[in-house]
Amino acid sequence: MIEIIREAGIHLPDAVFESAAEACFQSYGLKKPATLCLTLTDDAGIREKNRDFRDKDEVTDVLSFPSLNLSPQNTFDENSPASLSVWDAEQKAFYLGDILINVDRAREQAETYGHSFFREMTYLFVHGVFHLLGYDHMNKEDQLSMRQQEENALNKAFTSVSDEELLAIAREARSFAYVPYSRYRVGAALLAKDGSVYTGCNIENASFGLTNCAERTAVFKAVSDGNQEFEAIAIAADKTAPWPCGACRQVMSEFAPELRVLVTWDDGKVLESRLDQLLPHSFLTFTEDQNG
Ligand SMILES: [Zn+2]
Repeated sequence: MIEIIREAGIHLPDAVFESAAEACFQSYGLKKPATLCLTLTDDAGIREKNRDFRDKDEVTDVLSFPSLNLSPQNTFDENSPASLSVWDAEQKAFYLGDILINVDRAREQAETYGHSFFREMTYLFVHGVFHLLGYDHMNKEDQLSMRQQEENALNKAFTSVSDEELLAIAREARSFAYVPYSRYRVGAALLAKDGSVYTGCNIENASFGLTNCAERTAVFKAVSDGNQEFEAIAIAADKTAPWPCGACRQVMSEFAPELRVLVTWDDGKVLESRLDQLLPHSFLTFTEDQNG
């Protein structure tokens, strides 16, 4: 278990960071239980810490403050005085240090790099954890070995997204909805078979018929990134269960007729169905055995 301080409000649940931390520890080869403290803050919050502790009066994306002097070659020694001094008796784990993530900057970077907020947050967190574990990127060689570890851990983290995490990501995706006409915000999180998650929101238009739903936004993002195999989709709205509309059912059915569909609303209510139950006898033109 890690401690999370939420100075800036985001919908990603603790479990996202817990499973990512676990993936980092495994990738590093840490055999003993470890813990850390993560603070989710904003531009102003991280600038203050950067100024007070590092003498740099500027905004950044992530800061790490290791409590142990570890190195990439896993030099962790549970019996060393240093290790014993960071034993957290309550958590029954060694306390590796503090990580601060600037949620404002994460949002900007997610947009710049064209991937989801969830992906950017997970990346920044994993980067911070490897700093606590003694990795650095001062020279090219160090940078490469850190990058390799990060990719290892991210691959693990992204293949273990739970329903709870997917629902939380969908809730988070609502904040990007463009809904000046209906004010009905919907977010979607599409889980691909390779573990990656694509988010979507509804995007309205002055010409109402051109509006695109959150589910199709997510599917189109995935397909245009070369991903066509999907496991599940979570859809979140503020009020009333956001079951997908007919158009979205048909579009999703093209790629994953047996897709698991989870809907959530009121920040907690959840229902689940399967796409072939929501859309029996979907429209197909190119199947060989269509007529039995
Ligand atoms: Zn729709």
